[in-house]
Amino acid sequence: MQSKHGCPVAKRCGGCQLQNLTYAEQLRYKQAKCIRLLGKFCKISPIIGMEEPYHYRNKVQAAFTQDRRGNIISGVYQAASHKIVPVEDCMTEDKTADEIIGTVRKLLKSFKLKPYNPDTRQGFLRHVLVKRGFKSGQIMVVLVTGTREFPKRRSFVNALLQAHPEITTILQNINNRRTSMVLGNEEIVLYGDGKIEEELCGLHFRISAKAFYQINPTQTEVLYKKALEFANLTGKETVLDAYCGTGTIGLFAAKDAEFVVGVELNGDAVQDARENAKRNQIKNIRFVKADAGEFMVEAARSGESVDVVLMDPPRAGSDKAFLSSLLTLAPKKVVYISCNPETQARDLFFLTKNGYTVKKIQPVDMFPHTNHVETVALLLKK
Ligand code: SAH
Repeated sequence: MQSKHGCPVAKRCGGCQLQNLTYAEQLRYKQAKCIRLLGKFCKISPIIGMEEPYHYRNKVQAAFTQDRRGNIISGVYQAASHKIVPVEDCMTEDKTADEIIGTVRKLLKSFKLKPYNPDTRQGFLRHVLVKRGFKSGQIMVVLVTGTREFPKRRSFVNALLQAHPEITTILQNINNRRTSMVLGNEEIVLYGDGKIEEELCGLHFRISAKAFYQINPTQTEVLYKKALEFANLTGKETVLDAYCGTGTIGLFAAKDAEFVVGVELNGDAVQDARENAKRNQIKNIRFVKADAGEFMVEAARSGESVDVVLMDPPRAGSDKAFLSSLLTLAPKKVVYISCNPETQARDLFFLTKNGYTVKKIQPVDMFPHTNHVETVALLLKK
């Protein structure tokens, strides 16, 4: 399939590094990258791409600013700079989300509100974050403001709802720090209940603004199914879901396991995970808020036994504390999901030096047009 050439801001945005390649060429490029970085461990299965690789992002965020003439613009930060590249519609982003962000731009103007400038600490709106449940149809809009004060708040919210009755919840998040992080700590629910619901692999999830949730739901299902196929659970295993986020993989695994423990550092995500277990009436699972490395060290020290470890660390990969305690716990199987084949290669190198063999590696294209690739690896204890 031909990639949609001609995004007007491709160069300045830099988000879609592969947009000049056809989709088939992109997949070949990613396969070659996986073979180069991970091919020494085992044969790499052919990458699973998307049938319709556009508008797949269910989470869209835009930074707001004013140009020299005072026009309000919103979009993404230019790589390694403070400049905002205006984005109106993006081939990776959900279309409705982009429309809502466009409406917020117009509303700011008609309400005479200004984008926030973190240097001068003047103005109001800093970012807009939209999350949409592709299956549930629910939509969350987070207005990230530099000030707590929200002039004409009620009429602004009403105007936004009038333009987009499909919105199910609206929040204000206050972020007045000098930071490149989008969200601040404080959150005020302005409409609805502050969360959205989504369905994934037949389970129901509630998602809060701050918790991590996979951004490409179509491919997430493909990825999780592969991970569970690799784990090949029989109903008797004790499973650890490390770096579990809102608990999605662990909850999905629970129906085929004796017991699952999920470990996650982000407190909001852990709360969501517990709520999600209740919502789906899954009782053989428990979630712990902890650093995954520290948790593993403690588990190894107290002589716990784990049959299968599912791990899905952030881009930096896992750490020595985690990996060396993994060796002590000595699970029969490790299913390692990664969004960065470079750190995965480093971690697999350590594990294969210390008693594990890599049986399978499956790449999945979670982020078409970008140079990111997700992989799932199956390791067995020798
Ligand atoms: N498995 C989940 C989340 C994967 S993203 C899913 O598929 O949805 C990685 C997660 O690791 C994030 O939720 C992040 O908050 C968490 N994390 C990052 N560093 C961590 C650490 N040191 N210990 C535990 N969790 C960590």
